[in-house]
Amino acid sequence: MKNYKKIIEDIYNDVKQVDDIGKVANYIPELANVNENNFGVHITTINGEEFSIGDADKKFSIQSVSKILTLTLAYKLIGEKIWNRVDVEPSGNPFNSLLQLEADLGKPRNPFINAGAIVVCDVLISELKNPKEDFLSFCRNITNNQSLNYSDKVAQSEKNTGFRNIALCNFIKSFGNIKNDVNRVLDFYFYTCSLEMSCKELSEIFLYLADDNYKNDKEETILSTSEAKRINAIMLTCGFYDESGEFAFRVGLPGKSGVGGGIIAIHPDEFCITVWSPKLNPKGNSYKGMLFLEKFTSNTENSIF
Ligand code: GLN
Repeated sequence: MKNYKKIIEDIYNDVKQVDDIGKVANYIPELANVNENNFGVHITTINGEEFSIGDADKKFSIQSVSKILTLTLAYKLIGEKIWNRVDVEPSGNPFNSLLQLEADLGKPRNPFINAGAIVVCDVLISELKNPKEDFLSFCRNITNNQSLNYSDKVAQSEKNTGFRNIALCNFIKSFGNIKNDVNRVLDFYFYTCSLEMSCKELSEIFLYLADDNYKNDKEETILSTSEAKRINAIMLTCGFYDESGEFAFRVGLPGKSGVGGGIIAIHPDEFCITVWSPKLNPKGNSYKGMLFLEKFTSNTENSIF
């Protein structure tokens, strides 16, 4: 950790000075209220060592990073059957695209684009008694973090303007791959996206993807080694939509971004690192977040490759 500390500090100070060509997401009006200069980094190793810099303790809207958590719970609940509902192929298209669904007969390319996450939410609604409450307590129990919560404001804001997601859900329903009422599915999806966490909380919650022996404080495992392998593989190939290849090329770690400006990246058997900087590049990924992580794996010479 000592080495990481110095490297992270140096890269942080360097990237802080870089002119940010990104733009804060405003298609969800509530997201535009964030201070665009926020910039935080947190790393947690599987041995429990942690290091933070900048705005690492401020909570922000995790948006699509939540797609890992919904997938994890759905995978736990229905096992390999999940892959009958959603595929595991990169889409090479934007996160909110409707394009491929027609040809693919309503089966989304992967669980990390909106179409796929909406189907995963439909699975959770079928499996859980009280989807919002049960999903939240699943998330809280991973790291015993009872402060974790949704943002009603963000969820409502997205509900009022989420026309593409509304279209996606209806379109998939027309193929029979949404089993529940579309309004219920969308409401649940918008709430999962509205979860708020800090860089520190994100790095801690996703340690189960880095550590094969991860157990929560109730001694429960979150995923088996083979299940965690699969989720990491989908993160590497699909975690950044039509920029997944670019992220693998520049950073070389499985990861996942959200339009709130957060990125988490996993080094299997080593650590989870989170970067938050709200301004996004044209593909909807944090501009400085990607830059930071590229420098991090380059300077440490430590990626999965
Ligand atoms: N809630 C956002 C949406 O559905 C999530 C997108 C993202 O973070 N890429 O549009």
